[in-house]
Amino acid sequence: KYFPLKRSISEVITRKPQKFVKAVDDISFVINKGETLGLVGESGSGKTTTGRLVLRLLDPTDGIIKIDGVDITSLSQEELRKFRKKIQIIFQDPMAALNPYMKIGEAIRHGLQIHKIGKTYKEQKEIVYNIMERVNLKPAEEYYDRYPRDLSGGQRQRVVIARALALKPEFVVADEAIAMLDVSVRSQLLKLMIDLKEEFNLTYLFITHDLATTKYICDRIAVMYLGKIVEIGTFEDIYRNPAHPYTKALISAVPEPDPKLNKEKIIPKGEVPNAVNPPKGCRFHPRCPYATEKCRTEEPPVIKIDDQHEVSCHLYAK
Ligand code: SF4
Repeated sequence: KYFPLKRSISEVITRKPQKFVKAVDDISFVINKGETLGLVGESGSGKTTTGRLVLRLLDPTDGIIKIDGVDITSLSQEELRKFRKKIQIIFQDPMAALNPYMKIGEAIRHGLQIHKIGKTYKEQKEIVYNIMERVNLKPAEEYYDRYPRDLSGGQRQRVVIARALALKPEFVVADEAIAMLDVSVRSQLLKLMIDLKEEFNLTYLFITHDLATTKYICDRIAVMYLGKIVEIGTFEDIYRNPAHPYTKALISAVPEPDPKLNKEKIIPKGEVPNAVNPPKGCRFHPRCPYATEKCRTEEPPVIKIDDQHEVSCHLYAK
């Protein structure tokens, strides 16, 4: 009576069903132990979905995801819970990733409790203190009882990193982990992540829209466009010898500190098409300056340029 419904019930029932988006479509890649694979693309390219699939925070409709030889798509919820100790994620927004009503020390200890790490409260607190000190939240005793709201954005992301690393994972998905931070804090956090990788012998999937950041941390890079991996290669392959026209455009947009090395800017035509109804053939063809009739009708195969470098583009077909 007092709060009129915005939509009548009949309206809700008769609404047309939403169309499905294939956020990730037929992709395949390997991450070797100890390396950092960068997953790069604009928003809507499917990189975040890929990161969530790797952790099985989303279930794929088809395909397999193997970690350490185990197909995680076939694990039960209980098996998955145990397995998750090995694989952790660092989200973009630390404020959303932390419980605002939980002290940060307790937030880190909570993971230890779930995974039964440390026998006593004292032992767990010791582990938390050590990891907090390691991520530069020190003195840890002073930070332990603070709430997320008492910290800066950079400090909150340090808490999220500490919470992930307290479980001694082997594999970490960093999903735009430094994107929301100030530029100066970003470089500190990036350095911390690089140091921690060495120290904890980690493997990273580093998801970013910012190709420039991959320079400092990635061994190999996969470029995504509208749900597909269009190119994958070593850092040198992608930076020095990009093959796909979309990768070339991304590289040309990376700012170059030396003005003498000013590169020609390549700007793809138009906007990224709607993922609900992606273009036929090569998904990049409406924006590609080299598109041919074949590109409009046939999906390009994956073509090996060398051992580590692959591209999906008709230009490279023999
Ligand atoms: Fe451009 Fe054709 Fe290559 Fe697609 S397949 S990137 S449209 S040249």
